[in-house]
Amino acid sequence: MITAKPMISLEEAEKAIMSFPVSPAPEMVPLAEAAGRFLAQDVFSPRDIPEFNKSAMDGYAYISGDTSPAFRVVETIAAGTPPRVVITPGQCAKIMTGAMMPSGADRVVRRECTAEENGLMRIVAQDLHVNVRCQGEDLPAGKLVLAAGVRLRPAQVALLASLGSAEATVARRPRVGIITTGSELADPGTPLAPGRIYDSNSHSLSAQAREAGAVPVLLGRVADDAEATAEAINAAMEACDILIISGGVSAGDFDHVPAAMRSVGFTPHFEKIAVQPGMPTVFSTRADQSHEGTAPAGQSHEGTAAAGPCAFGLPGNPVSTFVIFEVLIKPLLQRMMGNNDLPLRQQATLTSPFRRGNGERTVFIPVILRHGKAELVSYHGSAHLHALARANGLLQVPTGQKEIAAGSRVDVRLL
Ligand code: AMP
Ligand code: MG
Repeated sequence: MITAKPMISLEEAEKAIMSFPVSPAPEMVPLAEAAGRFLAQDVFSPRDIPEFNKSAMDGYAYISGDTSPAFRVVETIAAGTPPRVVITPGQCAKIMTGAMMPSGADRVVRRECTAEENGLMRIVAQDLHVNVRCQGEDLPAGKLVLAAGVRLRPAQVALLASLGSAEATVARRPRVGIITTGSELADPGTPLAPGRIYDSNSHSLSAQAREAGAVPVLLGRVADDAEATAEAINAAMEACDILIISGGVSAGDFDHVPAAMRSVGFTPHFEKIAVQPGMPTVFSTRADQSHEGTAPAGQSHEGTAAAGPCAFGLPGNPVSTFVIFEVLIKPLLQRMMGNNDLPLRQQATLTSPFRRGNGERTVFIPVILRHGKAELVSYHGSAHLHALARANGLLQVPTGQKEIAAGSRVDVRLL
């Protein structure tokens, strides 16, 4: 007899994953490799920025309020060279953008407003600006500039460099093992025999893991065979912090993943969720000493990001695999890297009505988000990868809701 698996809501599934304990581990990386990583500690400015009073323009530094008809040019100050002469009334220093202000002077007149002849500078047009950037005006020493958990994008990398950091302390990237199941699958680039299809899930999962900041570890494909599936899962746990298996989780004769996970010691926390697409999603964990902080010697990932292995089984339809990664796995990976941010969402106006036959599950629908509007694309369901590839967002319609009128404000998850 086959007993029906209990189905839990999306929110309960999120809660079950949230209660999986993780312990982000820090590592130092050269600044050149820091982009895309999550900062593992707060960063405070070790110095004032600007570091010293400097000229904002090419011009002449002088004393504000000095109305001398002509100023003697006492020296020329290039950026990077400290000034030597103290400026007194009737004097000025020719100064370049970014050069240190000479003592005495507190204002710079732009070159365009002056005329210089025989070592004398005259101001020929009014310059309303002071043209001096004062020490510490952008950032005083000791100020918190970047908080732990922030993702380093190019501007943050530039800021760290400007503060003199050659390295960044970031969270170790979790290793995401990826196994695909399905005797029908073939590798892109090889000929396709009758009845076969190309494996797209290992590529979507790998790209999604990488984009989330993790390291994808491609562990190959297993045929639809119970023993081979169990062996592959067991072997995979050496190589990764979390494992994702695509396909073989539903009720077909050749769907072996849930039983295989159990047979190698995993406890399922759920095997069915009220989400469309993605209903037969499995989340399971295994108590495993070898994953609690240390890994086999000689591996670059000594220590893992999680406090024990966990494994997801995702339904093989390409849109299901993709959506469940976005909705359930990406937030876990972010948490493993010390980031508790929710996925990026945006409010938009739905351009055409949405209707569905029943409201039994939370549904995710691909949409094109443009200029504050969410446009439904022609979408045939969980195998329709082309629709997903046209979209840049997922409209989330909660359980119970069957209709959304055109013109309604909706919440869209950004892809
Ligand atoms: P399954 O979840 O194994 O029952 O597969 C559901 C559907 O997704 C079937 O039509 C499979 O052929 C397809 N599928 C399974 N795995 C993949 C994959 N890696 N890439 C593309 N399609 C897949
Ligand atoms: Mg299959």
